[in-house]
Amino acid sequence: MRYVSTRSAAPGKPFSDILLEGLSADGGLYLPESYPQVSAETLGRWRTLLAEQGYAALAFEIVRLFVDDIDEADLRAIVERAYEPGKFIDPGVVPVTELSGGLWLAHLSNGPTAAFKDMAMQLLGELFEYELERRGQSINIVGATSGDTGSSAEYALLGKPAVRVFMLSPKGRMTPFQQAQMFSIDDPGIVNIAVDGVFDDCQDIVKQLNSDPEFKSAHRLGAVNSINWARLMAQIVYYFAAWLQVSDGEPASFAVPSGNFGNIAAGHIAREMGLPIHRLILATNENNVLEEFFRTGAYRVRDANETLATSSPSMDISKASNFERFVFDLLGRDPGRTAELFGERLPQDRAFDLADSDEFRGQVERFGFVSGASTHADRLAEISRVYDEDRVVIDPHTADGVHVARESGVEGPIIVLETALPVKFSDTIVEAIGMVPPLPARFEDLMDLPRHVIDAPNDAAAVRAIIEERAGV
Ligand SMILES: *Cc1c(COP(=O)(O)O)cnc(C)c1O
Repeated sequence: MRYVSTRSAAPGKPFSDILLEGLSADGGLYLPESYPQVSAETLGRWRTLLAEQGYAALAFEIVRLFVDDIDEADLRAIVERAYEPGKFIDPGVVPVTELSGGLWLAHLSNGPTAAFKDMAMQLLGELFEYELERRGQSINIVGATSGDTGSSAEYALLGKPAVRVFMLSPKGRMTPFQQAQMFSIDDPGIVNIAVDGVFDDCQDIVKQLNSDPEFKSAHRLGAVNSINWARLMAQIVYYFAAWLQVSDGEPASFAVPSGNFGNIAAGHIAREMGLPIHRLILATNENNVLEEFFRTGAYRVRDANETLATSSPSMDISKASNFERFVFDLLGRDPGRTAELFGERLPQDRAFDLADSDEFRGQVERFGFVSGASTHADRLAEISRVYDEDRVVIDPHTADGVHVARESGVEGPIIVLETALPVKFSDTIVEAIGMVPPLPARFEDLMDLPRHVIDAPNDAAAVRAIIEERAGV
């Protein structure tokens, strides 16, 4: 399997190269040159495999379709380590629960940091370690987080000698649980930097550091952001796992709380592979860049001051970093047109409009996307309704998915992806149902542990000095 960029017709590259590269040098994102096809017979076999041997065994079968330059036994061991017993609270890794009204919840937040990002990050961590060791290299990951991504990356890369992590977060702006989760890590390979600013400031500093080629190569700076193909690949697995548990063969739809279009991009690929997905229901909060696109055909990037701080903060985005992958497929995999839209139109106009294109008009039939948005009041109402009707406490991001699923009018079973545990967003749960969400036993001591974090001013030079002092290379 080779990987091509969404912006050029250059020959494909092997998996191991694009794993460490992340973004393509032409600014495009990597995708497999074609999607492997899965027959009904294979799905039947996988149903038995999942039931008898578990999630890691299914994950290996799917991952091996995309990775042919890692020895099979090694790849199996990598996948087994990523999803080993005990890492995820539930032995099924991604169990499903039935809710009232034809809805199902697929629980993606049973991992070490209680958000769905663990599903991908755990595999990415294992793959990075393997590939760096194979090449005799080490790297410094420098990232910015508003909460979920940073802790998920840290827990996935913890204790891996070839990787050091510098994670910038906006000082005092993460939830108490998120802060405790990140700052309680006591490991020389993990460096938390609390920047006196907002998330966009953190991201700007990371960009500034990366725009200095000398600094970047001297310290081998790397990233684990959501545009990395391996993260999408890992996420494809749970679409199969959830569908296999809910359906005997009939199509089901998925409702996906969306921000950067990473989670639902994996659903799109699963559907392209032949998984019987009826509709992909994209759910946003008030920051509705993506909802607007699927409703109107116009993609309009927002400015920072137009991006609202909502009660589902992990979906507060102004542009969707993975969206280019879908547009590439929508436009019949035309790298020229994709490069024009994302490399020229967007930087210039901050927007493009596909409403008049045949591809957009035929999109629902061909690709199955529909969309909807929720407000804070909708999410509160949904958290309360699901608690009343089903005695399940859902987090505000998941509530957004449930709300949009109910409003969508889509027929047949809908699997809503649960993207975080409610304990991460306790204030909103209290507001909705007047009750503090349950704290899983594994997090009981977290709030009391000593904190390890370096305060920094909102200034790239200061952050750079911290990295230079502690970098692994
Ligand atoms: C990251 C995240 C999302 C959004 O996922 P994307 O892949 O960016 O679309 C939704 N909910 C939670 C809890 C998240 O952490």
